[in-house]
Amino acid sequence: MTKIFVMYTGGTIGMITDYETGVLKPFTFEQIIENVPELRRMDYELTIHSFESIIDSSDMTPEIYATLAELIRDNYDNHDGFVILHGSDTMAFTASALSFMLENLSKPVIFTGSQLPISAVRTDAKENFITALEIASAKVDGRSRVPEVCIYFENKLFRGNRTFKYNSAKFEAFRSPNYPVLVEAGVHIKYNDAAVLKSDGAKLKVHTNLSNAIAVLKLYPGISAQIIDAVLNSDAQAIIMETFGAGNTTTAKWFLDKLKNAIAGGKIILDISQCKVGSVEMGRYQTSSELKKMGVMNGYDMTFEAAVTKLMYLLGRNYPKDRLLRRLSTSLRGELTKN
Ligand code: ASP
Repeated sequence: MTKIFVMYTGGTIGMITDYETGVLKPFTFEQIIENVPELRRMDYELTIHSFESIIDSSDMTPEIYATLAELIRDNYDNHDGFVILHGSDTMAFTASALSFMLENLSKPVIFTGSQLPISAVRTDAKENFITALEIASAKVDGRSRVPEVCIYFENKLFRGNRTFKYNSAKFEAFRSPNYPVLVEAGVHIKYNDAAVLKSDGAKLKVHTNLSNAIAVLKLYPGISAQIIDAVLNSDAQAIIMETFGAGNTTTAKWFLDKLKNAIAGGKIILDISQCKVGSVEMGRYQTSSELKKMGVMNGYDMTFEAAVTKLMYLLGRNYPKDRLLRRLSTSLRGELTKN
C-alpha cells in the first residue's frame, strides 16, 4: 500500500469558526479527518504528524522550515511521498525554502491548504487535500512521477519555488507565470511530465542551516538616500533589490555610488524585478549595464519568495564568496531560467 507522510502545520484548512466570537480558530487533525470521510476509502496508509502548535502561516519561521526538512529526512525511506498542510499566505516561501533545503529529492513533497476551512460547506480544502495525496502517490515504473517540492491548489500543481500567492479572495490563489503548470486536475489528472524535474537517484541531502542576514530594497521613483542607506548599511550580508521592468534602476550617480560602495564593502546585491512576468536582463538598458559592471547579481526570473529563501540557504551553507555568487545566478532546483 502507498505510504504518505502528512504534516499538518495549520492555516485556514484546519480552522473552524468560533460561534461566540466569529473568529477562525484551529482544529485538531482528528477533526480534519472527520470532515473528510473519503480519506477512509482511499488506498493509502497515512502517517500523520500534527505540529504541537497549529499556526497561521504568517507565524512561519526558518526554524519550522528546518523541522519540516528533518521530518522528511527521518521518514524518507519508508514513505512514498509527503503532503504538507499549510496556510496559503506564506506557503510559497516555505515551499521555496524546502526546495533548496532538500537536495537530490526523488519523492514528491506537496504543499496544500485552502481558502475556506475544511468544515465549511463550500470548502475547497477537500479537493485540494485529496488530489495532493493522489499526486504524492503517483508513480511510473516504480519511480515518483513528481519528485519535487510543489504547491497544489485549485486544480493545479505548481513548482513551489516558481509560485506566489496572488489572490486572497479566490480559490485560485496561486500563480506561476514564469514556469508551466506541472499537473492539471480535471476529470483526469494530466501530468506535464516534460516540465517536471528529473531525479538522478542520488542520495537525499538535507540542509537545515539558514541565515536571515538579508534585507530587501524595493525601489520607487523618488526614494531617498536615507532609506537606501538604512538598508545598505544594515547588518544584512545580502540585499534583494526589487527593480523596475527588466532589472532597471535610476542612473543617478549618488545612487549608483552607494551600490558600488556597498559591494566594495562585501555586500551581495541581487537584482530581481518588480514585474511578476518576465526576467531581469542585465545590460539590455544602459541603467542595468551599470549594475552589471559593478557586480550586482542577476536574479533572472526568480520570484521574490525564491530569492529570499535561496539567499537564506546559500548564506547558511557558508560557501566561499565566489562560489556563493556563482550559485546565486545558477538554477539549483529549477527556480530560474537564464535568458
Ligand atoms: N491566514 C491563513 C494562513 O496563511 C490563510 C490560509 O491558510 O489560506 O495561515
